[in-house]
Amino acid sequence: MKINIKNEEIRSERVLRIEEIAGENIFKCYQCGKCSAGCPSADQMDLLPNQVVRNLQIGKVDAVLNSKSIWICASCFMCWTRCPRGVNLTALFEACRQVKLRENIDEVGLKQTIQEAEEMDIPQIAVISVLRKLTS
Ligand code: SF4
Ligand code: SF4
Repeated sequence: MKINIKNEEIRSERVLRIEEIAGENIFKCYQCGKCSAGCPSADQMDLLPNQVVRNLQIGKVDAVLNSKSIWICASCFMCWTRCPRGVNLTALFEACRQVKLRENIDEVGLKQTIQEAEEMDIPQIAVISVLRKLTS
């Protein structure tokens, strides 16, 4: 089966923005999977770290920005230290979060989160941290 993919679909404005914010070239990745094998959060992710890069390489940016994975990433840098190509996945994940947040889409409701935090007696610093990460 012949698949037609246009260059502008692969190199969309959002993909270019993610690369620019991360300061990374997604085409350095050759899909060895070492990042995913070492990621401590991989079992919680719906797209593994190498799949995030692959989706960006083929222009499937919505699949990445709508994935749980970009919010589950703990920014621990393990993937970067393991990558034989030196791909800074931590920066790519952060860039994806930035692009999503700049589109003004909050991942959590402010009121509801604060209310739940109070009910569960969660420390304020943890609530602030979550709100910084998940709201625009
Ligand atoms: S370790 Fe690096 S080269 Fe290998 S799949 Fe992950 S990002 Fe790509
Ligand atoms: S930085 Fe994120 S993607 Fe990379 S190993 Fe840590 S949790 Fe996994």
